[in-house]
Amino acid sequence: MDNSYDIIIIGAGVTGCAIARELSKYEARILVVEKDEDVCTGTSKANSGIVHAGYDAKPGTLKAKMNIRGNELMTDLAKDLDIPFKRIGSLVVCIDEEQKQGIEDLYQRGLANGVQGLKILNRDEVKELEPNISDNVVCALFAPTAGVICPFRLNIALAECACQNGVEFRFNTEVTDINESENGWIISAGNEKLNSKAVINAAGCHADEMHNLISDNKYHITARRGDYILLDRALEGFVNHVIFPQPTKLGKGILVTPTVHGNTLIGPTAIDNDSKDEAPVTADGIAKVLEGQAKNVTGLPVKQVITGFSGLRAHEDSGEFILKEEINCFFDCVGIESPGLTACPAIGEYMADLVSSKLQLVIKQQWNGICHDVKKPFEMDEKERDQLIKEHPEYGRIICRCETITEGEIIDAIRRTLGARSLDGVKRRTRAGMGRCQGGFCSPKVMEILSRETGIPFNEITKNGGNSKILTGRTKNES
Ligand SMILES: Cc1cc2nc3c(=O)[nH]c(=O)nc-3n(C[C@H](O)[C@H](O)[C@H](O)COP(=O)(O)OP(=O)(O)OC[C@H]3O[C@@H](n4cnc5c(N)ncnc54)[C@H](O)[C@@H]3O)c2cc1C
Repeated sequence: MDNSYDIIIIGAGVTGCAIARELSKYEARILVVEKDEDVCTGTSKANSGIVHAGYDAKPGTLKAKMNIRGNELMTDLAKDLDIPFKRIGSLVVCIDEEQKQGIEDLYQRGLANGVQGLKILNRDEVKELEPNISDNVVCALFAPTAGVICPFRLNIALAECACQNGVEFRFNTEVTDINESENGWIISAGNEKLNSKAVINAAGCHADEMHNLISDNKYHITARRGDYILLDRALEGFVNHVIFPQPTKLGKGILVTPTVHGNTLIGPTAIDNDSKDEAPVTADGIAKVLEGQAKNVTGLPVKQVITGFSGLRAHEDSGEFILKEEINCFFDCVGIESPGLTACPAIGEYMADLVSSKLQLVIKQQWNGICHDVKKPFEMDEKERDQLIKEHPEYGRIICRCETITEGEIIDAIRRTLGARSLDGVKRRTRAGMGRCQGGFCSPKVMEILSRETGIPFNEITKNGGNSKILTGRTKNES
């Protein structure tokens, strides 16, 4: 294998993949190296899925600029890449007369950042929009440009699009060392040495470690955990906007929001975490989530919980997005905490500009920015669905009953560009296993299909790569 590249990107989260897609517009040999088995395995897989309006970050910061630009770009990006995205608007709720000034401050900050359509609503207006909001509500900041997006599809589609335009990906390949060479950089990754003219560090919570390998100007990232509870789709309509409390120094607080697929999500906490990879959901975390939501909405039937999860924010000490060339074509994307999901299209654009002008790259004659999601028969009208099933009977066999996901969708998720190799890979591409039973019924069937399609022995199928095998042995002899 030729191990010489123009650009190597470390990390296949939304940041790395958005940059890869933008750079795939240029004539260059590009590689994304990822330590895990798939794209979307880091912070990009466990967050609130909010496209923020942009009133939080301090005016003039990169965080503010990238948020605003990312929000602007999201409508077209979601259309081009077939990503579920709804601009449902957000409300920052004030439940105490004494906190009213905080809402006014956020409003002014939003105006300074250039957020469109911001309004402060009085109690009656808020109650009319959201009848289940707390009776203590005094007023709220309404931001119509906020939205909810599928974070998995965003990450996966950016990667698929980059790949279809020639970007290479290597999984299960951890970068362990980086050294400068005559022609650029030598990267030790897995068991190989990779050469590249430029390196882009998009390693999420580990981005400080990658940076510190090559620079004396050290960064420090704290992994700050956010715990969540996800509620059943039966509660759809309980709230119709993203409901935030007033933000604190540690973050935006415990929100209550519909997800783009109609579940209700509550969280996240903000708890410093020892590990940068393992994010355990704790009883303490869940208690904080329950306590937090109860301040802003009334009567949420939290017994309808179907799962809990948590994600890790890559909080750099400066609190700012660090997007720059450190030295000699080594480019950093460090401290990409919230609103990194919202900002990723803008970060892609910004970094591609920096790198392409430094390397004097030439734009390709042909580039295809369009990608399609897995076909979803239960989102089609009856006639279209019947036709699909007639041509491909596998779309008539339901595997995940909770989310009505068919065998055809699972096969597509496995066979497509950068296809799934694990249960979680299938889950993030199709939603099989994301419903009420959380894969209790469909997991063995999905494993059978995975094994049949990939040739991986049934007992070697993993939840998410590495040592996460589902089966430990047989309960009976085969004979
Ligand atoms: C609780 C929480 C809630 C959030 N909510 C929102 C929200 O609602 N809206 C929003 O806009 N943002 C939100 N964010 C922020 C957003 O999720 C992140 O900013 C974004 O996902 C970061 O993406 P990334 O690609 O930089 O990092 P990641 O997704 O973590 O990707 C980095 C990748 O690099 C890989 N990697 C690391 N080290 C190495 C190595 N040595 N070699 C090879 N690969 C390596 C990792 O395995 C990983 O896949 C939230 C974050 C959290 C934690």
